[in-house]
Amino acid sequence: MGGQRRRRAADMPPLLGWSIIIQQRLGGHAVSIRFGPSGNSDSFYAQGYKNTQQMPEYLVAMGLDAFEYSFGRGITLREETARRIGQAAAAQGIAMSVHAPYYINLANPDPEARRKSREYIYRSVDLCGPLGARRVVLHPGARGKGAGEAALPTALEQMHRIAEHVARQNPDVLLCPETMGKRNQLGTLEEVVELCKVADNVLPTLDFGHIYALEQGALITRAQYAQRLDYVQRHLGADKTRRLHIHFSHVQYTQAGELRHLTLEDQSFGPPFEPLAQELVSRALQPVIICESRGRMAEDARLLKHLYQQELARAGAPA
Ligand SMILES: [Zn+2]
Repeated sequence: MGGQRRRRAADMPPLLGWSIIIQQRLGGHAVSIRFGPSGNSDSFYAQGYKNTQQMPEYLVAMGLDAFEYSFGRGITLREETARRIGQAAAAQGIAMSVHAPYYINLANPDPEARRKSREYIYRSVDLCGPLGARRVVLHPGARGKGAGEAALPTALEQMHRIAEHVARQNPDVLLCPETMGKRNQLGTLEEVVELCKVADNVLPTLDFGHIYALEQGALITRAQYAQRLDYVQRHLGADKTRRLHIHFSHVQYTQAGELRHLTLEDQSFGPPFEPLAQELVSRALQPVIICESRGRMAEDARLLKHLYQQELARAGAPA
């Protein structure tokens, strides 16, 4: 009980942040939900901003309150820079998360490669302190030829080991394995839920664009969203479901799954956000929602927030 309370407190943003969180009364529960981009929009640089230490100022002007720092292509951020970004983010109430490198593969049949994957995660986790980040998003890995049927059991064993290590070394940090969009990747909704069962400090990242792409567009209706959220709740419980990490963008796909991320302006592919917003409101969920649109991630995060607020108003919550 005490541990759970401590973890929940740890997942909260620095105190200053509370002043700008969307706080709504809904069915007697205080609901806080956050929106922000993964990385900086093109407009950030077009407006003359030079580096990520200036990101909090830009985000506040956009009405946003979350940011995901990507180590996708490698961890080049220096601790001193991380600390400056973290201080600026805390001062503006921005909730920080990080994305671990894309080349992590918990299912790699080669033990040395798995050790390196663990190291990349630990280095990502270590930078959470200076950045003030509480969540580390990670791609579980590939199904690779050598891995075959063993891919999931191998990844589960690794996840367990990593979660224990992180719980000891960085008890404030949550590991967030992500649902993936390509068939050759490990990370269906069911697999991610299994990975999240291994420990209390593992929370799912539901990338709804990826789910939509992997399932060939079968994520359109409110009932289809409800079905996925019900599944998570049934297997991981109400607490993890309420605090979900969410990635949202429109994703173009082929038979092999995800092809590329689009902007929300591009309506040729989905998924639609409105039915998800309806489910978030009716279930009083409090996720962090990160937008990964190409070039327009902050603008699109603002649009998602607007759609969510519309849904909240429609549901009769006082503004
Ligand atoms: Zn990702």
